[in-house]
Amino acid sequence: MQWIDGKPAIGGGGELSVINPANGQSVETFRAADSVLVNNAVGAAKKAFPEWSSASPVVRSNALHNLAQILEDRSAEFARVESEQTGKPIRLSTGFDLPGTIDNIRYFAGVSRDSSAQAQNEYSPDHTSSLRREAAGVVGSIAPWNYPLQMAGWKILPAVAAGCTIVLKPSELTPITSVMFAQAATEAGFPDGVINVVTGSGREAGEALVSHPDVDMVSFTGSTSTGRRVMQIAAQSAKRIHLELGGKAPFLVFDDSDLEAAIHGAVAASLINGGQDCTAATRAYVQRPLYEDFIAGVTALFEGIQLGDPMDLATDLGPLISSQHRDRVHGFVERALTHGAKVHTGGRAPSGSLSSGAYYQPTLITGARQDSEIVQDEIFGPVLVALPFDSDEEGLALAADTPYGLAASVWTRDIYRAGIVTRSLRAGTVWVNDHIPIVSEMPHGGFGASGFGKDMSAYSLQEYTVLKHVMNENTGKARKDWHRTIFAIENRATTKGN
Ligand code: NAD
Repeated sequence: MQWIDGKPAIGGGGELSVINPANGQSVETFRAADSVLVNNAVGAAKKAFPEWSSASPVVRSNALHNLAQILEDRSAEFARVESEQTGKPIRLSTGFDLPGTIDNIRYFAGVSRDSSAQAQNEYSPDHTSSLRREAAGVVGSIAPWNYPLQMAGWKILPAVAAGCTIVLKPSELTPITSVMFAQAATEAGFPDGVINVVTGSGREAGEALVSHPDVDMVSFTGSTSTGRRVMQIAAQSAKRIHLELGGKAPFLVFDDSDLEAAIHGAVAASLINGGQDCTAATRAYVQRPLYEDFIAGVTALFEGIQLGDPMDLATDLGPLISSQHRDRVHGFVERALTHGAKVHTGGRAPSGSLSSGAYYQPTLITGARQDSEIVQDEIFGPVLVALPFDSDEEGLALAADTPYGLAASVWTRDIYRAGIVTRSLRAGTVWVNDHIPIVSEMPHGGFGASGFGKDMSAYSLQEYTVLKHVMNENTGKARKDWHRTIFAIENRATTKGN
């Protein structure tokens, strides 16, 4: 589970296992990365940086095109492993994770050759200024377990397209496809050391990476609490930082919306990837006239969702990432009940043949208080909270009322209502009459407690570059006019002499 300098490596830490959450069985066991291994990986990335950062855009682009082809050829294998290590339905890995990642690679293969910049010009009469966009350096990246392959892509692709070299630490729960990705990159022609993967715990391998003196930039995706810790460590050496953190997306349904579309949208957007999606719909605010019908519609669809083996094409919902996480999700539901909320449907782990996996039923909660934990905090499971509202202003205020700001959606046929919401909500993505779709060309990233910095799109490429201003003096005079600020007497004499 380690890939350093173009080859596999073995960690010096304790033994870790990747567990298939559908059945609790071990998929792979490996030795964790310790600080010595992290140091080796950073050393490899540092050694590879001068050549890779000065490679022409076409060299980087060609390597990315080759990588896309290899992933396309091996899609079925990648999708199977992704589903084994995460428990996500094979339909999702095959139809979303793989095509999304391959499209991302192709996008960065193209955009890495776009060098648009401010024009070179004489902004001062005696000088010509130009800008250089240079690679930020060695990047230390840390990723979560929910979309391991896509997250590896989101972290690695803009960094290497910009000329950086990288050490990625995937989640210790789901490292396999990240290592497969790095191996495929080596086969695609990426020079040794450009892409390295170290797998170990956050405390040991993660902190060793973030604090390493030769890491120039830290790019982190994960929970808000870990992001705060990462930011503190990175601050010790004033590293450049990029944080993609948690979310608690509102789903705002106005009384003129297409109710059937809103119901289907809410079910799909709250259950995708078992609700373990940073942009998942988590809080449905529904205008009073539609509220009861919305609850009835979501309940009917939730109760028809097929839980089962992730490898079965008929499965809608797989297990959560682990039984510990399933218990954490259930804890939110239990505590909400003690504060007056009601479970409308779901609210427990299924019994019978699925009990050996980390399954949890699609759960609809009503009657929760706006200031309660189930409305305010990220649950990261198949749990949707629905609440009614009366005036548009009230709905908007409720939707805005959490510290997070990653994503939101508004459901209405009225373009003026939609316009007010899209302008007012402080969230990185606001969908109108949909919730979840993403495209490689557009940025993804949060406001507030959801972090800062953008993944995907040309904006993410910029995050991995630093701007340099180059200023050429054009007159060739030994005594420049501006020297008068220092050499007042001499300049005056020279001026008289002239
Ligand atoms: P997490 O914060 O527990 O872990 C994320 C990564 O950080 C893992 O690789 C972990 O090993 C590492 N880590 C843990 N402690 C660390 C430390 N002290 N120093 C350095 N690294 C450390 O998150 P998770 O449970 O793996 O993932 C779920 C979270 O990720 C959710 O909050 C979700 O919203 C968020 N997420 C956000 C986005 C986004 O784009 N904003 C995308 C996917 C997931």
